[in-house]
Amino acid sequence: MIIKDSLVINSRTRFQIIDITSYINEKIDKSSVSLGLINIFTKHTTSAIIINENEEGLGYDIQNLLYDLIPESNEYSHDLIDHNAHSHLKSLFLSPQETVPIVDGRMDLGTWQSVFFIELDGPRSKRKIDLTIMGE
Ligand code: ZN
Repeated sequence: MIIKDSLVINSRTRFQIIDITSYINEKIDKSSVSLGLINIFTKHTTSAIIINENEEGLGYDIQNLLYDLIPESNEYSHDLIDHNAHSHLKSLFLSPQETVPIVDGRMDLGTWQSVFFIELDGPRSKRKIDLTIMGE
């Protein structure tokens, strides 16, 4: 069985790391798939999906690393039309998607793993994340 679903996220700040693990597990629960895979895919070019540890200090470290690598303004060409070049460039170092095994109707994550939506150009409303649940 293959099921399509989605999550819609509103972000509050320019850069924000949002733990979406429990929302995804609720969607898997609703799908009745107990063994399979889920693909989590953001539909936006200035956002990302990652798996990492939910620890506040690490969140600041990730933000600082990305801003050190890619400053907010640097005479970017894309800023001439959209003023968010740094957000697109930060997404280059991340990924728009993750695929996670499903076991016993939940994501089979490691003890310290959570799934996050990373907002790189907030605040935004209605950020859409597609979920494709495959299994039985
Ligand atoms: Zn842009």
